[in-house]
Amino acid sequence: MKYARKLRKGDKVAIVSLSSGMLGEDFCSHNIEIGVKRLKDYGLEPVFMPNALKGIEYLQNHPEMRAKDLKDAFLDDSIAGIICAIGGDDTYRLLPYLMEDEEFIEAVNKNPKLFTGFSDTTINHLMFYKLGLSTYYGPNFICDLGEIADEMLPYSREAFESYLEGNEYSEIKSSQVWYEERQDFSRNAIGTDRKSHKEERGFELLQGNEIFQGELLGGCLESFYDILTVNRYEDEKELCEKYGLFPSKEEWRGKILFIETCEEKPEPKLFEKELIALKNRGVFDVVNGVLVGKPQDETYYQEYKDILINVVDNNELPIVFNVNFGHATPRCAMQYGVKAVVDMNEKKIFINNNLSKFKYHPNIYDTDKVIDKVIYGEEICQCCGNKVSVYVENMYCEPDIYCICMECISNGKAAKKFEGEFIQYAEDVADKNKMNGLLKDAH
Ligand SMILES: [Zn+2]
Repeated sequence: MKYARKLRKGDKVAIVSLSSGMLGEDFCSHNIEIGVKRLKDYGLEPVFMPNALKGIEYLQNHPEMRAKDLKDAFLDDSIAGIICAIGGDDTYRLLPYLMEDEEFIEAVNKNPKLFTGFSDTTINHLMFYKLGLSTYYGPNFICDLGEIADEMLPYSREAFESYLEGNEYSEIKSSQVWYEERQDFSRNAIGTDRKSHKEERGFELLQGNEIFQGELLGGCLESFYDILTVNRYEDEKELCEKYGLFPSKEEWRGKILFIETCEEKPEPKLFEKELIALKNRGVFDVVNGVLVGKPQDETYYQEYKDILINVVDNNELPIVFNVNFGHATPRCAMQYGVKAVVDMNEKKIFINNNLSKFKYHPNIYDTDKVIDKVIYGEEICQCCGNKVSVYVENMYCEPDIYCICMECISNGKAAKKFEGEFIQYAEDVADKNKMNGLLKDAH
């Protein structure tokens, strides 16, 4: 996976309309004013791509122009990030213009850029996933930067700010409040707050182990359903199959699936069908766990939980419900392809980018066997005394070791304290620092 760099002050960010063209309609003009101001307050320079504001009808009739904007944003070296205006329902129609364009594919690989949005944007994310770029299922322009309250919703703002360099997420936990969806999005409603509620439940573990890990992969459940069926558009399934958009069973293996429902608030019967469509593709047989977004306005809250357990029909698969991503506000950002550790004792999702890094063992959290296997579970580190959820239980030293956290390995404290090593044998390496790094602190 390629990971785009985070945003810096002075960066240009492109705004694109890849699904609905509503950003170009008069009724969204105040969202533009508000969103532009907020981006500028971050020191970012918004650039509306040439077709982004051409309106609903034009963009509906010209998927190729929507695709062109995305391609041009990738070809423009001065642009560091790309923010989707909003979702819609037919961004799959861009696929032929992008997936058969070598120049676009090369640009994505050579100039990875931060890309964010949700809902129908799931299709764009899956395309980037296929092309090997890690993107963010998170805030978009109209709903978040253009939020008409005086401030962005704090939790969603934090998600957006995690895109700024030096401000990356280390963990995701439940928002303390949730908001009802607005009835009035018009200019008249500027400055009004959403109706808010205290979050009473937080992340809810429906079943399975408290701790699980894997790379994040998912999106909007309705988008998945539309890819797999002829539910919404007759040609969608075929087109998405042609470009291999839905990950194969092998690609799902070991992942954490994240899914959420849209503002259409699918009735329980439909929700069930959507889950069965995923089940039929073998997804639940191979993923390590499932994160499910909070339903908008908590509609069908209990029904969805019951259906999840019924359809998955395997009480060992961890399912965490009521996570703040997707359509319900506020929302966090889920990064595709990033390793996450879900620890429901702590009710937190730890993001790998912030786990200790090991220069000579970049894949330590996956398959690297130089250090004995990394364990995901709850334990007290024998070195620092902290409660940790990622650790190793072996070290070559005198004392009996059952838990050393990754941080104490990485900063060399454990090697010093227990006068031991994490690797027993290594061939002589000419570079002394490297040798030390390999053996002592595995750094
Ligand atoms: Zn420790």
